Amino acid sequence: MCSRPAVSKTLSVYGTSIFAEMSALALEHEAINLGQGFPDFEGPEFIKAAAVEAIHGGANQYARSQGQPELCAAVVQKVQAQYALSRDPASEVGVYSGATEGLAAGLLGMLEPGDEVVTFEPVYDSYIPLMRLVGAVPRVATLRWPDFRMDLDEVRSLFNDKTRLLLLNTPHNPTGTVFSRQELEQLAELCRTHDVLVLTDEVYEHLTFDGAEHIPMATLPGMAGRVLSLSSTGKTFSMTGWKIGYAHGAADLVAAAQAAHQFLTFATAKPFQLAMAKALAVGPSFYEEFRADYTARRTVLLEGLSAAGLPVCRPQGTYFAMANIGALDFENDRHFAYWLTENLGVTCIPASSFYVKHEEQKLVRFAFCKAVDTLKAAMDRLQPLANLGQL
Ligand code: PMP
Ligand code: GLN
Repeated sequence: MCSRPAVSKTLSVYGTSIFAEMSALALEHEAINLGQGFPDFEGPEFIKAAAVEAIHGGANQYARSQGQPELCAAVVQKVQAQYALSRDPASEVGVYSGATEGLAAGLLGMLEPGDEVVTFEPVYDSYIPLMRLVGAVPRVATLRWPDFRMDLDEVRSLFNDKTRLLLLNTPHNPTGTVFSRQELEQLAELCRTHDVLVLTDEVYEHLTFDGAEHIPMATLPGMAGRVLSLSSTGKTFSMTGWKIGYAHGAADLVAAAQAAHQFLTFATAKPFQLAMAKALAVGPSFYEEFRADYTARRTVLLEGLSAAGLPVCRPQGTYFAMANIGALDFENDRHFAYWLTENLGVTCIPASSFYVKHEEQKLVRFAFCKAVDTLKAAMDRLQPLANLGQL
């Protein structure tokens, strides 16, 4: 055995991901898992059939490294139809093993040690460890309870001549914030002024509510050449286990991500790419139904949390909602999340794991990517919290 720890110093501080930790706890206690964001229902049959057909049809060797041509073409058609963005399938689209790998490829491909990256907390779990792996420096602005909107002065103070990249997640996990056109324009102007690149994480692009509109940063005037836009088929087609993510952007940005992707995974599972090429051909009615289904699920969650006495921020997007446990007598969000799993049989995510700068310990995240019956059962289990709050 080697006397030194096997794990690198950089990664040793992060331990196990909070999603894996809470899912294991939910399993142990047979709790309803509203923690890790994955659907408990199946995605469309025609997509599964397309993957089976691709496997039986012999699509079982390496895919084209930058992305199977069928899927790249489907991405081009989708972003043209949806956002009026013209992209070249050969040079302006990349396919990755999930948005997670796309994020890694983008950051490894674009950053040098010492480069600064502006992003927002609460922050998705992989962003900061990936920056640290490259030796880049995170500069983090805080979205604060109860409305989680950005503070422009705070963001502006983070930009300087070392800033290389803005890493922006909208719709935003875990807060549900959808950045408005005005906020995006303010960010875009800062990026142009400081000659900064943008990596956008738009995996929840089709999950917006109450009339909130998802606006890709790449569609703002003068931004198409500066932004690498990432998305994932896992959320939109309820197949998170397939891990098919993709990006589109100017050729030099896609090439930068590709420079890393070729050494990370080289290529992504071919039959699933071919199936997702067919999935992306769905028309607007698919997305309308998707949004309507999630609106109904969101209502069950929001009503249940309110009835249980938990103040909640009504999410404009994503399939998550943040609730405030400040009125309850718990030491912190982790204690609450463990107690809730062990005693009431419902699992959530302690949101302190998403904060790196601001000390926030009174928020928890609930996922509503679950069948309405699952959500109703979970909300029934939460109701004793209403009495706890009055103690
Ligand atoms: N970014 C965000 C904000 C996410 O919430 C997730 C997963 N839920 C990902 C990236 C990763 O997506 P994928 O599963 O396609 O790797
Ligand atoms: N993105 C999912 C979430 O936010 C989790 C994905 C993962 O477990 N890495 O819950």
